[in-house]
Amino acid sequence: MTHKQLYNELIKKMNEYHPYKDFSVIGEVYEFALKAHGAQLRKSGEPYMIHPMSVALLLAEIRSDIETVAAGILHDVVEDTSFSYDDIRERFGAEIAELVRGVTKLKTLKYVSKEDEQAENFRQLFFSMSNDPRVILIKLCDRLHNLRTLEHMSPEHQKRKAQETLDIYAPLAHRLGISKIRYQLEDLSFRYLKPEEYFDLVKKMKSRVSGRQRFISDIVRNLKYVLAKEGIEAKVVGRAKHLFSIYKKMVSQDKTLDGIFDILAVRVIVGTREDCYSVLGIVHNMYTPIPGRVKDYIAVPKSNNYQSLHTTAFCKGSPFEAQIRTWEMNEEAEYGIAAHWKYKSRGEGASIDLESEEAKFAWLRHIIEWQMDMSDNKEYLAAVKDDLNIYRDHVYCFTPKGEVFNLLNGSTPIDFAYAIHSAVGNKMVGAKVNGAIVTFNYVLKNGDQVEILTSNNSRGPSRDWLSVVRTTEARSKINQWFRNENKEENVIKGKAMLEKEAGKKGADFYELIANKAWLNSVFSRYGMGDLNALYASVGHGGIKDGQIINRLLEERQKEQKLRELKENPAEALTQKPTDTQAKGKGGVLVQGQDGVFTRLSKCCHPLPGDEILAFLTRGRGAAIHRTDCSNILSLPADDAARLVEAEWAGGKEDPRVYVADLRLLCYDRGNLFVDISKVADGFKIVRISAKTDGGDAIFNISIEINDKQQLDRIMSKLGGVKGVYRVERA
Ligand code: MN
Repeated sequence: MTHKQLYNELIKKMNEYHPYKDFSVIGEVYEFALKAHGAQLRKSGEPYMIHPMSVALLLAEIRSDIETVAAGILHDVVEDTSFSYDDIRERFGAEIAELVRGVTKLKTLKYVSKEDEQAENFRQLFFSMSNDPRVILIKLCDRLHNLRTLEHMSPEHQKRKAQETLDIYAPLAHRLGISKIRYQLEDLSFRYLKPEEYFDLVKKMKSRVSGRQRFISDIVRNLKYVLAKEGIEAKVVGRAKHLFSIYKKMVSQDKTLDGIFDILAVRVIVGTREDCYSVLGIVHNMYTPIPGRVKDYIAVPKSNNYQSLHTTAFCKGSPFEAQIRTWEMNEEAEYGIAAHWKYKSRGEGASIDLESEEAKFAWLRHIIEWQMDMSDNKEYLAAVKDDLNIYRDHVYCFTPKGEVFNLLNGSTPIDFAYAIHSAVGNKMVGAKVNGAIVTFNYVLKNGDQVEILTSNNSRGPSRDWLSVVRTTEARSKINQWFRNENKEENVIKGKAMLEKEAGKKGADFYELIANKAWLNSVFSRYGMGDLNALYASVGHGGIKDGQIINRLLEERQKEQKLRELKENPAEALTQKPTDTQAKGKGGVLVQGQDGVFTRLSKCCHPLPGDEILAFLTRGRGAAIHRTDCSNILSLPADDAARLVEAEWAGGKEDPRVYVADLRLLCYDRGNLFVDISKVADGFKIVRISAKTDGGDAIFNISIEINDKQQLDRIMSKLGGVKGVYRVERA
């Protein structure tokens, strides 16, 4: 076709869908571009104008408005001719000129593999889209025509363009819902990226499709007949799936072409939603459906707004897929955002009402928010690529009110909470799935009903959540929360609280943190990286000031003890007691005390495996405490001098039993007591008590234990009981 023919075709096309019948501006733009590009030729030897006119025609095929089509004709003028942005603005107005400028800017993007630059490209791309999404429509059509004429380029150039298209532009077309463009972009990229596989598949498809043609056309004919009899007006067609999606399926499911039975599908387009369900019933009545293959994307649309009913059924022992949708849904699937264009009155142009398209553009808004949030290019790039990944799977989950959320496969209740709202995620203290309490790392399944339990007393998200969440959205919101919590006022407040708390305990805070080893023990215990994070956490109440100071004092005490022992070897290091001696005397080795009588203190109930200290009493042997026992930490200085290093003697046949006090925090539910008792079965329970507090239940259990390993086992078992959200040693 010549560019004049393309022009005529363009006007004809626009007449089919566009409400205005006056396309004189397109004519003016065409004349101007023709003059601007003059005698320029493309690599193929064709006149240059073939390219912009083809791009404009593609834009008309997805039903773009006049301004977008005009900008499509002009899209290479600023870059490739002597005319400028101002020239275009003077002649055709700011709207068209801005669109051309947007596309021109994107052109200077260079696709590179280096992460930093790649991230920079993404940032620019999404920035231009946020100004006016129509820019990306022009870019997509430009890319599609370039791919169609790629044969004149070097193989290296072909591969690069194809890869870039698969990485960025095809996913964008998908997210914008323009499958008409997406499939062509994918198949063309596939052809240049993997020519052997492509042509092999084309050949195989030909024979398969012709073999299946009669099969499908029989179904189409039968369906048409029955639908007409039922009085349902419908368009019924058989169509082949596009090559790249078949290829992807073969690779990901490790199948040959014969193993893929939906390469040919029957599509039924009807007038109303109700008709869709009627047709589904008719199909299932005529052919036996495969259980579990019915997908209702009408009630629960895909994240790009795609709606259809899908089912797979058998006809004479051979499966086929049927897609059922209304004309509106079909337009949405083919034209995406372009189908949402709202035409204002004549002369005012057209626009997308971003407010009313909220859901559709939510992903774009997120990506733009991430730009501001993520200063780290690696993180940003991973997030965008993850978000653009077309082939990842989703699960659909519901709120108790039946609101549906579409989440990435592998998402947890935390992801769900943040998908509802960051305020919900930040106050989350637990979750119920299908009525039962689940752990935070529970992996959501299709159809789960998820109830997020929140509390105003929640201290906010935990850093551990970052390793549990699957979605970038949740990760980004949690990070945001921590950043906010790191605000200066919290830092100042936290610092003051720590100073005061240390003073109360007779210590100087700055002396304590001057010791890097002690400070690092605090950092590693609470998962923090620096002092500001520590101050901020204390300041906003995430960690108690007393906890931090106690930990530091404890470290100091340990070190003091060690030093004293070294300075007084005579007193400290007599011979070490042997295992047998020690076992006889209570299973604990006390430094420097040969065969001393030991007893386990009642205040902290140390267990083999705990870090312990011995307190030398006057005449009653040594009392063994846990190193984090509050009584030990608050000993007056002269008593503290009687603390001695101690360790468990070990030995497999330690016959002693110890009593461990456990506290269980639970969401109250029927049978909770029974389930907890079941888990504790086989252990000797010394005492058990429970009280309820609103919807919560607190259990205090004293249980006989042989060693720390056994205790850890029972604690994790108790933690696994439905409803128990925390198990701790009292
Ligand atoms: Mn171009």
